Amino acid sequence: MTRMDTRMDGRHFARRLSRRDFVKTAAAASALLPMPALAQNAGGRVVVVGGGFAGATCARVLKRLDPRITVTLVEASQTFIACPFSNVVIAGLRDLKEQQFGYDKVAASGITMAFSAASAVDPQARTVTLANGSRLPYDRLVLAPGIDIRWDGLPGYTESAANVMPHAWKAGEQTLLLRRQLESMADGGLVVISAPANPFRCPPGPYERASLIAHFLKTKKPRAKLILLDAKDAFSKQRLFQNAWKELYPNLEWVSLSQGGKVTAVEPASKTVVTDFSRHQAAVANIIPPQKAARIAELAQVADRSGWCPVDAITFESKQQPNIHVIGDAAIMGAMPKSAFSANAQAKVCAAAVATLLAGQKPEEPRLINTCYSLVAPDYGISVAGVYRPKDGVLVDIEGAGGVSQIEAPRSTRSAEASYADGWFKTITTEVFG
Ligand SMILES: Cc1cc2nc3c(=O)[nH]c(=O)nc-3n(C[C@H](O)[C@H](O)[C@H](O)COP(=O)(O)OP(=O)(O)OC[C@H]3O[C@@H](n4cnc5c(N)ncnc54)[C@H](O)[C@@H]3O)c2cc1C
Repeated sequence: MTRMDTRMDGRHFARRLSRRDFVKTAAAASALLPMPALAQNAGGRVVVVGGGFAGATCARVLKRLDPRITVTLVEASQTFIACPFSNVVIAGLRDLKEQQFGYDKVAASGITMAFSAASAVDPQARTVTLANGSRLPYDRLVLAPGIDIRWDGLPGYTESAANVMPHAWKAGEQTLLLRRQLESMADGGLVVISAPANPFRCPPGPYERASLIAHFLKTKKPRAKLILLDAKDAFSKQRLFQNAWKELYPNLEWVSLSQGGKVTAVEPASKTVVTDFSRHQAAVANIIPPQKAARIAELAQVADRSGWCPVDAITFESKQQPNIHVIGDAAIMGAMPKSAFSANAQAKVCAAAVATLLAGQKPEEPRLINTCYSLVAPDYGISVAGVYRPKDGVLVDIEGAGGVSQIEAPRSTRSAEASYADGWFKTITTEVFG
């Protein structure tokens, strides 16, 4: 953690934790990066696939921990486009350029960049094959490829349907498509968002998106209506979101699973969203579909039947293939949610574990922190924080550490949290890419 990170989190946690708990949490934070005592003959070859929040962090921290390790970062794209704050882009309040980051500083920190998609992994031969035809040998491989959409997960929702009913769950062209559709929609139109069942990338994300689209509609298309159809009965920061919606967006209708909110099919030709009980013909339909670990995880044989990757809770080594570690959204991390903050924390722990294992030593048991901010309006932020430790092979919540923003709080507190969110994004992207 950078100094600024620690300071921000300190302020944030301190408001809702007892001093004793806070001290425990602060101690856990510093234990995030146990400095391995490396043997003289350490070194080795590590390939990291995926240069997002998890992969780019892991590559940099590994190189910092032991400069003798040869670290190659394989990334399909020259420019990373971050999802956090992409809902603000959709609401027309931020430029997509502010979400874009290059890899010059990563390369300058001694990491070999390979800009190509990894297309195969041979766990026995310990090699990664790239789409450009080259083959990279490794002693340890770290997979951090994020998510793919389950194109077979929702009847009617194909890749071409996503050009009509965008998911915008990977930032970039999809983000801009959804924004343009909202901008060009007639006032009085119906916007439908569908949220998937757990697990999926960014549990509070659909609710932040609904809030910021509601903000856009309130200010630009006041006669429009917004329905959020949900495959769940409960969601992250629920009371905070719902209280804020009552106050700010009385026209936002949330339909839970037990009220018939689960979307069972979509019909892209007419932009119709279908549930067991109703059909909604939308002017704009944002379908957030079921997800799974990105395809390379399946090709490397580290994903199980759930589509996600089971890992050891201390080293994040795959439970299916030795010498391959999986971090970030692609992995099953127990109680830890799929977030950029989590991906960054897991990457640091994984880097320390890989360096320690390469040195022939035993990694220490980690403690990890996650904080997820959400914007309900541009100046209205809320958050959830958690601290995690391995127990019986999985990461579990440390009870009493973390929690959500105060349920009753003045607008000045909400506005302060919105600025902490902004600070967090600047801090994490500077740490990973700057
Ligand atoms: C709308 C939205 C809002 C969000 N808001 C927040 C937030 O406020 N706070 C928060 O903490 N999190 C937030 N998240 C979640 C966050 O974006 C993800 O949890 C995070 O990006 C996960 O990091 P990752 O490194 O696992 O995956 P990614 O960041 O997606 O990185 C994966 C990388 O791997 C590359 N890749 C994939 N396959 C290959 C391959 N075969 N070869 C080479 N490269 C490959 C991809 O190009 C990509 O660069 C949000 C997500 C969404 C959708």
